[in-house]
Amino acid sequence: MGRPHALLLPLPAQGHVLPLMELAHRMVSHGFTITFINTHFNHARLLSAMPTTYNTNPSINFISIPDGLQPGDDRYHVANLCKALITIMPLHLEEIIINMMHKQPEQDKPTCLIADQAMAWAFNVAKKNGLRTAAFWPASAATFTSIRNVPKLIQDGIIHEHDGSAKTPGVIFRLSPGIPPMNVNHLFWNRQLDSESNKVIFHCINTNKDSIKNVEFVVCNSFYEAEKPEFDYLNTSKILPIGPLLSCQRFGKPAGLFWSADTTCKAWLDEQDVNSVIYVAFGSLATVDERQFQELALGLELTGRPFLWVVRPDFTGKAIIDLLKGLEDRIGGRGMVVEWSPQQEVLAHPAVSCFMSHCGWNSTMEGVSNGVPFLCWPCFGDQHLNQTYICDVWKIGLKMNPDENNMITKEQIKDKVEELLDDGEMKKRALAMKEIAIKGIEKGGSSFENFNTFISAMQV
Ligand code: UDP
Repeated sequence: MGRPHALLLPLPAQGHVLPLMELAHRMVSHGFTITFINTHFNHARLLSAMPTTYNTNPSINFISIPDGLQPGDDRYHVANLCKALITIMPLHLEEIIINMMHKQPEQDKPTCLIADQAMAWAFNVAKKNGLRTAAFWPASAATFTSIRNVPKLIQDGIIHEHDGSAKTPGVIFRLSPGIPPMNVNHLFWNRQLDSESNKVIFHCINTNKDSIKNVEFVVCNSFYEAEKPEFDYLNTSKILPIGPLLSCQRFGKPAGLFWSADTTCKAWLDEQDVNSVIYVAFGSLATVDERQFQELALGLELTGRPFLWVVRPDFTGKAIIDLLKGLEDRIGGRGMVVEWSPQQEVLAHPAVSCFMSHCGWNSTMEGVSNGVPFLCWPCFGDQHLNQTYICDVWKIGLKMNPDENNMITKEQIKDKVEELLDDGEMKKRALAMKEIAIKGIEKGGSSFENFNTFISAMQV
């Protein structure tokens, strides 16, 4: 018998590809061959951002299929992307599987498919062709639990059946006595770009939520100790937290990045005092308007502290270079702006004191794993719910609150930075949580054991 061969299929977005790629590396170190299936669009980005030191690794083969959108279409519009995927990807995936089954020697044939839970249609395609299946859940157990409880939320009169919107906006509810309260406005599907997108995403998650019935496992990028009540509530040995899935150890190997990271910021960090730098990053999709961008720049200036700020070229409407002109002249070397950072290495650097973050789940897990306290600036999707865990449950961060003009002011930025960094208890809790997270992925830890359970089952 040959090596087990897994097909890995992410949702085509940076925050989904990255942790699945880390899972791919871990599976390779347990004897798997991996075929990693991206969309054509992301495949091209991934290859161009790949480290030049990377030699083709025979254990991970990258292939691609179309995403159903036209060249030039907006691939950051998640709702449109999800609608398009389903029109074309199932056929292409099936073609790949059938080809591999017929053309490859017995020992090289695929044995299982691990797909993002948001691509649940793929499980039917895989099963039809004799593959074993597991789902990958890249977000929190809390978000997973809210999605699984859509029928209960409808029955309890919390959300509307047709589009998942709040019956009473802002209402707080509990899914069970042990689970922290949730705000109906913070439900994942109610925080998309607009109400039409909310509806599309609500429809998608409703279609996908029962996919767990059709898979052997759901592996999650979280850890049991971070979300104990949620995992206890879900109460099934099928759902295995195996996180945090951190890819920063994979130097010289493809981490799954769409942009190449500007590593000059590491030398700049080396020159800064320990525990002094504010790291500011909003992930791969979030944007702010020009007014808010300028206020954020002024706020960072006002703190008087060193900062490292990731400004993607598409982070705001206007040319970034014009917006930053005055700031760079005024602050000189005290601040550094990069288009994309090696975030996991940045967060592990001793110079970093806090993380001003949009609270994407990967960023949340990465901050937690490095004991860095947060300044939370959630924008959409699951980020508001993640903020609740960071600030109200784990108590390792502060919320930034938009004012009546929907603006986070420069004064608030300065005040929150001071408040966070003056609070020694916050840092202590962040360090304690880091220890728990790291213990979990080490030999004997909960995530380590769960990963072994998953691997042993899928190897057979
Ligand atoms: N990231 C990075 N460099 C950056 C900004 C982000 O490598 O300058 C990575 C970050 O480490 C994380 C991912 O991009 O793994 C973003 O995922 P997250 O879930 O935090 O946010 P999303 O992009 O999905 O909104």
